[in-house]
Amino acid sequence: MQRKIRNNYESYNDFFEAHLPRRRFLYADISKVLKRHETQFCVNLEGCSVLGREIKSYTIGSGETVVLLWSQMHGNEPVSTLALLDVMNFLETENALSLLKKLTICALPLLNPDGNETFCRRNAMGIDLNRDAQRLTAPESRILSNLYKTIKPNVAFNMHDQEQYYTTLPERKQTMISFLAPKFNAAGDVNDIRCAAMQIIAVAKEFLEPIAAGCIAKYSDSFMPNAFGDSMQLWGTSTILVECGSAPDDIDRLLPRRTAALAIIRMLESIATQDYTEIDIDKYMSIPNNIRDNTFDLKITNIEICMPGERSFRADIGIRRYKGADFEDFADFSTEYHVEGFGDLSNYGGIKVYDGSECSITLQKGVKIGDKPDYTILLNNGTQVPINQLY
Ligand SMILES: [Zn+2]
Repeated sequence: MQRKIRNNYESYNDFFEAHLPRRRFLYADISKVLKRHETQFCVNLEGCSVLGREIKSYTIGSGETVVLLWSQMHGNEPVSTLALLDVMNFLETENALSLLKKLTICALPLLNPDGNETFCRRNAMGIDLNRDAQRLTAPESRILSNLYKTIKPNVAFNMHDQEQYYTTLPERKQTMISFLAPKFNAAGDVNDIRCAAMQIIAVAKEFLEPIAAGCIAKYSDSFMPNAFGDSMQLWGTSTILVECGSAPDDIDRLLPRRTAALAIIRMLESIATQDYTEIDIDKYMSIPNNIRDNTFDLKITNIEICMPGERSFRADIGIRRYKGADFEDFADFSTEYHVEGFGDLSNYGGIKVYDGSECSITLQKGVKIGDKPDYTILLNNGTQVPINQLY
């Protein structure tokens, strides 16, 4: 059934997939949600994951221009799928009708369901699906490759999540969303195919400015011939990488999810109306780079370190969430923190920064890298603050 919605940023709540409001979900949860789409989308079973979970595509629209969107080839990047589910809800509204006359849209949410189940980047064979575009070792990679060959999309969206330590220059705010029109050769040439991807991204950038200014970045553009995005760009599909980032105090990444969903809807509209052809690619080129720097979750600056019987001194302390055994995990899902920097950390950023110049810490053995920071800070006015209140 079609719902009528308003056509602006605020209408997002009308198509937000409210059955999956949290960042983590299991295959059984998303299967229920996808079942609901079987009435308006044309569903096709594309194959099964290594552990036998069904992977389906959902197609809607009757237009000449074919668009493919797939999400979460990395299992621990669920926000990309949630944003795609929001987009699928939008596509069932009246506001999408004109768009669906111009476009045929094929969505493949959750390409790596086994990785999603264990919150792991790779598939159940240990293969990184986004380095498998040439060898097609994994069944999930073959599913994507076969779907691509069958529908021959004009435009493709490759949807991922990125870590919380990416920031955007010049203010080094946490990146909310980053985009890339991947290279199709090492030289980084720009042909018509890649140029269109750049222009479509530039449209999204302009559209997002009012809600994500200073947090929109361009993803690192090193050429990776075994990645799907780079390969599709080479095979003649304008391909767009979308990386859902993070925002302060937003563990479920609801803001990046909303930003990505709205951006994709705007890009679909642009592909349908072709208004992107009017935009200069300089507007893409000038998007600031996404910086993966040594940002700490908490940086305490210039705090006095006191040890009984020793001279006190001042230093910065850098604290990060602990990644645990799997270094490919997303750190912001951990509740354990470790000291990872100590001394002069002026060249490092902090998602949260606490000015320690009016404070001290007294420790028997000083601060050690790897410590669990169960320290208490003493403010000049005598107040004691446990560090874990500052995370
Ligand atoms: Zn990824």
